[in-house]
Amino acid sequence: MMNEIPKSLSPSARVLMGPGPSPTAPSVYEALSKPTLGHLDPEFLVVMDEIRDMQRVVMGTQNELTMPMSGTGSAGMETCLVNLIQPGDKVLVGVNGVFGTRMAEVARRAGALVTEAKSEWGRAVDPLALREAAGGGEYKLLCVVHAETSTGVLQDVAPMRTLADELGAMLLLDCVTSVGGLRVSLDEWGVDAAYSGTQKCLGCPPGLSPISFSARAQEALSARTEAVQSWYLDLSMIANYWGSERSYHHTAPINMLYGLHEALRLVLEEGIDAREQRHRLHSRALVAGLEAMGIAPRVPVGERLPPLTAVSVPDGVEDAAVRSHLLEHHNLEIGGGLGPMKGNTWRIGLMGAGACRENVELCLRALHDAMTAQGSAPAREGVDAAGAVYAG
Ligand SMILES: *Cc1c(COP(=O)(O)O)cnc(C)c1O
Repeated sequence: MMNEIPKSLSPSARVLMGPGPSPTAPSVYEALSKPTLGHLDPEFLVVMDEIRDMQRVVMGTQNELTMPMSGTGSAGMETCLVNLIQPGDKVLVGVNGVFGTRMAEVARRAGALVTEAKSEWGRAVDPLALREAAGGGEYKLLCVVHAETSTGVLQDVAPMRTLADELGAMLLLDCVTSVGGLRVSLDEWGVDAAYSGTQKCLGCPPGLSPISFSARAQEALSARTEAVQSWYLDLSMIANYWGSERSYHHTAPINMLYGLHEALRLVLEEGIDAREQRHRLHSRALVAGLEAMGIAPRVPVGERLPPLTAVSVPDGVEDAAVRSHLLEHHNLEIGGGLGPMKGNTWRIGLMGAGACRENVELCLRALHDAMTAQGSAPAREGVDAAGAVYAG
């Protein structure tokens, strides 16, 4: 029984420097609180069209079937897989972290015959290893993670397209942590299906998943002989709401879409290349600062993902105690490791509005303080090393 009605919420304004959610830009918060329109209101239809146009630019595509799905990044993942896979289809997945593992699992649940090409966590997937795992033959789909947030690895897409061609496969790319932080060029790269999420580099709260399907993927969708197993994620119906028919499928999350509209606007106002440069600069400064403090990156320099830096927890330092200290004393959230990286890795996000000098310096100072509190004070100040990067 409830004795008293809970008070209205007043959550702390945390500095979010984990693997997501990332900080929400102030104008995105404002957009979220604007008056809710009906999902078929002519004014709202304009908002939808603007979102689709902006999303195409931010994802580097002219694909007709481009729009946000209602749900988080995983809903976008599931949308791509359940719409493209029919039971018995062969699917090859590059697995080098949590999200490749998840794609393989979702594909299996959709009835695919899944081949997982597993490679070391913290490294990019080697196209040669993928080809070997495929063992020849035709595949329906090759699935790869562009930005593996669980390990901080950025994957080169071009060799994946080459391999997909050899296998006769469509290429599916997880762009959850790249869209909005790095230039994503789906058309140029030859990606057939891709999904992202609002709460990483787009700087919007979790709740929507921008997706895009190429003409080839759309053909595969129309050529299906069985209905898509998920009613909610069935693109053949959802496309009729986002397209000219405007037929009701489910009530669009109106205010979340306002938030995405503003978040996409901010990306375009800043410019995609400028935004990528900003993410790269602050990540370089962060890494320099961490290295000065004796905290080593987990990923080789050529494979690092600027929006998410994975580092080894130094010997003698206790992961959980440091992260609690950061939250309690500095109002700062960073991420721990997952899978084989649990307990030995920190994941530090610089995403969207959070990719700024203030956050880099806060994180370096706070880590210094937390390690000192544990009796493992770093020999050097990270902020000085980061400052040297900013000074050029
Ligand atoms: C966060 C993330 C997802 C899943 O998104 P949710 O919003 O947590 O459902 C999928 N892939 C990658 C690479 C991610 O970083």
